[in-house]
Amino acid sequence: MGRSTPRNATSRARALPHPVKALSMNTWLTDAAKAALKDVTPPWSDRPLSASGAEVSVAGDKATVVIETPREAGSAAEDVRLAAEAAVRAVSGIAEARAILTAHQRPAGGGHAPLPTGRGAPKGPIALPGVKRVVAIASGKGGVGKSTVAANLAAGLARRGRRVGFLDADIYGPSAPTLFNLEGPPDIHEEKIQPLEAFGVKVLSIGFMIEPEKALVWRGPMVMGAVSQLLGDADWGELDALIIDTPPGTGDAHLTLAQRAPLSGVLLVTTPQDLAYADARRSGKMLRRLSVPILGVVENMAFLQGADGSLVRPFGEGGGARLAAEFEAPLIASLPLDPALQKSGDDGAPLLAGDEDAPSRDALERAVDALEVFLEG
Ligand code: ADP
Repeated sequence: MGRSTPRNATSRARALPHPVKALSMNTWLTDAAKAALKDVTPPWSDRPLSASGAEVSVAGDKATVVIETPREAGSAAEDVRLAAEAAVRAVSGIAEARAILTAHQRPAGGGHAPLPTGRGAPKGPIALPGVKRVVAIASGKGGVGKSTVAANLAAGLARRGRRVGFLDADIYGPSAPTLFNLEGPPDIHEEKIQPLEAFGVKVLSIGFMIEPEKALVWRGPMVMGAVSQLLGDADWGELDALIIDTPPGTGDAHLTLAQRAPLSGVLLVTTPQDLAYADARRSGKMLRRLSVPILGVVENMAFLQGADGSLVRPFGEGGGARLAAEFEAPLIASLPLDPALQKSGDDGAPLLAGDEDAPSRDALERAVDALEVFLEG
């Protein structure tokens, strides 16, 4: 599902009318900005950034450059970053330039991901002073509806008047561009990346910075370099909650996110199936080892209700309850298979952002209730 059918967020975003202003790419300026990088050759390469190792995107008069950086680059990476920003800023028509560094090699001898190489690359959680709670949504397995649930929780909270951010850190299929019908790149203002906004939710996604398909071939550490900057260098403002849609799995990217994001807690999403349960359990165990509280479990695709009221359980039974018991956390919602929920995702308008009565609505609202209790606590 999420992973096996990557969505063409860009074309969908263009096709749909939306009140949110689409940020159009300026091809000419992008080419000019990329050409300007011919004068910046990093010490770790014999080729300038214009020839390799940099992705450039331009929105209006603001440019974003993503630079692949080897781990051993050390402090030289920061010099390259500043030189790239200066070179691109000098292009006529570009007022602001932002360069983001991403680490792209695994540490010798295996082990976990290096921390990102951003400015100063502080270790430990990134401070987000204006954000009251940071809640991760994790599933372990892809395709269980983690992003759909996360987007609806964010939209549901926003509809209730909460100030909400949504960080899509799912490297294998950044879905926020589709789920919120938004297109990047984001603006940069006073050195800060400006989240896009839809349905009252401030949204940032790796999918706004690069083509979603390209993210598929990024290694975890590369993505986490960018995700760390989306977290720490973004203008999130004052938020009651920042919802983070985490990457599937328990790999480097997941671990780094758990270490760098100042997580207040995590909601686990699973289907009733053993396979999904086992992956969500692994994910939960890893997060618990890192002292992240497990706030609750959402069981998705739990049943299908026929017109005559009969229930079919295509994915079996019990995964959600077992997961909740395992972590001594509440099972906060059991969502049915719901075509309306699926369609709302494809349409780029989360179900809870509107009034539509749908089979999954009540359960989703209960999940938002539970999250609100946590935000207040
Ligand atoms: P993940 O983030 O876990 O990979 P997604 O949120 O991308 O999963 O969901 C995978 C697919 O399943 C999407 O097409 C989504 O619309 C659909 N989906 C998610 N939850 C439900 C549900 N309860 N009923 C019907 N379709 C769903």
